[in-house]
Amino acid sequence: MFKVLERIFKDKLATEKISLSGSERYRGPIEGTAKSDVLGHCAKACPVAAFSVNGDEYAIDYKKCLFCGRCVEACAQKALADGTEAGLQHKHEDAMPYLIEAGQEVVADVLKEKLGRSLHVRHLDAGSCNACDFEMGATGNPYYDLSRYGVHFVASPRHADLLMVTGVVTRNLEQALKMSYEAMPEPRLVLACGACAAGGETYGDTYAIVGAADQVVPVDLYVPGCPPRPSAMIVALLAAADMLKDKMK
Ligand code: SF4
Repeated sequence: MFKVLERIFKDKLATEKISLSGSERYRGPIEGTAKSDVLGHCAKACPVAAFSVNGDEYAIDYKKCLFCGRCVEACAQKALADGTEAGLQHKHEDAMPYLIEAGQEVVADVLKEKLGRSLHVRHLDAGSCNACDFEMGATGNPYYDLSRYGVHFVASPRHADLLMVTGVVTRNLEQALKMSYEAMPEPRLVLACGACAAGGETYGDTYAIVGAADQVVPVDLYVPGCPPRPSAMIVALLAAADMLKDKMK
């Protein structure tokens, strides 16, 4: 808080700079190597079975990962560490390199040129705890200022280019998710935001839960995290604008 006030008085500007490559202030993909016996403890500590071990190799399913750090804490050799990359997962691997190369300003130009100055986003809460929704709300505040890129939230899927899904899909909202997707005009994109919508494991398997968003509708982008930071969501929305541009060719 004091740092923000300091910046306001010093620069007269306190809008967060959105980094495409990550930040030291938050957890990203796990880094490091360790022996299989140690990795076994890490896998056991994972609450959502995102950490799997094969000999001295390990793999993490970042769609499910909560970035809770329990695997790092459980590593007796202290060989694993939290990385600082944004941890953005893409189904279309081409999108992120393009975004990093082109930079945000170019993406903002693409938005103006191809999408009539705006990317319209419809949010659908498919059964979240509201943590992702609160962080999503923060993208619009003066600190993150999402509208500076021409990205706006709309009240109807009929007006939307992108459907942003938060929460694990519950049986009560499965139909609403399908209908929202079907109501969107082509070309359309779906972004699964947060570990519940992206991985579907957070609450386990119960009678009330269908699972991840991609079990119901085709998903183009995944933003991992529990909840993801507003800056990670903004990076994903800018990448979505890039994808949409390709779909409109
Ligand atoms: S950080 Fe991810 S992989 Fe590690 S224990 Fe937590 S949920 Fe599992």
